[in-house]
Amino acid sequence: LKTVKEKDMELYQIVQEEYARQKTGIEMIASESYVPTQVLELQGSILTNKTMEGFPGRRYHAGSKVIDKMETLGIERAKTLYGAEHANIQPHSGSNANHCVYTAILNPGDTVLGMRLDQGGHLTHGAKANFSGKVYNFISYGLNQDTELIDYEELEKLAKTHKPKLIVAGASAYPRFIDYERMGKAAQDVGAYFMVDMAHVAGLVAAGVHPNPVPYADFVTSTTTKTLAGARGGFVLCKGKYAQALDKATFPGAQGSMHLHIMAAKAYTFYYAMSEEFKVCMAQVVKNAQRLGDVLQQKGFRIVSGGTDNHLLLVDLRPKGLTGAQMEAALEGVGITVNKNMIPFDPEKPMITSGVRIGTTAMTTKGMKEVEMEQIGSIINEVAESLGNKDKLEAIEKRVLELGAKFPLYPGYFETM
Ligand code: PLP
Repeated sequence: LKTVKEKDMELYQIVQEEYARQKTGIEMIASESYVPTQVLELQGSILTNKTMEGFPGRRYHAGSKVIDKMETLGIERAKTLYGAEHANIQPHSGSNANHCVYTAILNPGDTVLGMRLDQGGHLTHGAKANFSGKVYNFISYGLNQDTELIDYEELEKLAKTHKPKLIVAGASAYPRFIDYERMGKAAQDVGAYFMVDMAHVAGLVAAGVHPNPVPYADFVTSTTTKTLAGARGGFVLCKGKYAQALDKATFPGAQGSMHLHIMAAKAYTFYYAMSEEFKVCMAQVVKNAQRLGDVLQQKGFRIVSGGTDNHLLLVDLRPKGLTGAQMEAALEGVGITVNKNMIPFDPEKPMITSGVRIGTTAMTTKGMKEVEMEQIGSIINEVAESLGNKDKLEAIEKRVLELGAKFPLYPGYFETM
């Protein structure tokens, strides 16, 4: 940030503060990761200077030859990575990717089934405060209270009763595999489209440690962030027969010009996700989440659904007499970042909650393994038992800093910004 420092010290210092936080903290927000330096470079590249609309070979601006090559490369890589017939890599984010699919196949007022926000679904799956809940008639399905797994029987009944035009699978806070085949069949039985929003698990799917929804879904949407651990953007995969409708819905339907610097970083993200190194990392992400869950369970926390199949844990704090808001603040105070999160059938309000969501992707991309998860699990328990004890919490903060310092941010790439 040499020239930012020369021109805008105020902003430079803000970025420095965040750099210091990322260097030393223990980051466990389930949607975060530390992206490869190649993604940093491409997102900061000269590609941001070009304006471009349309698709390869069908552009609205001159000077598109190089960009056509780049977009085609990204599309082909996305298709290869997931075994998809068509890919659109233009959506600016995961929310936009969902908007693009809805625009392609739905009319305002159409009925859609999506997962309840307070049981793990995303805002764009029909929350009232979101465009999806305002424009379309979303009906929510949820979890079985005993198993804390998706209530597939309820979902099948809802599909038969409401005859939706689309069923949406996928979640922001669900620690288990989703039965894509069963949900796809439920959609087929009532003549609905089936869309899977795999934003949270896209990296795990790419690495083969999570079921691939592509064979079962008409559309698959995602971010390239979260477990895919790359560019800050979105993409959509679909069956070939929907390619034209999806592309038209993306541009000119839902978006204008493309973010070419981000698109290049997406193309790199797909390339890196095919590597052995990435596969090993994603397998470790899951092992780390499972070990952390075991440790927390041993320490008396309740893990929603009894464990995890993916990169995240939902931790019920009620056995410790704490709320999610209290735990989030206490952990942030010692340098561990998590987010408060509703647990299934949570009696608390969304700004309080009974749980926290903990993810292992970020620290695994920094190199942590099971042994560090054991230490973090013990630290989390000590924090839970030390609320209000300033001296104890200060001593814990020192240990967190020491542990974090063993896993530097981009070692050898930049020592200062
Ligand atoms: N879909 C799911 C399941 C998500 O968890 C998220 C992000 O939180 C999104 C979509 C939206 O992604 P973005 O924040 O890039 O719009």
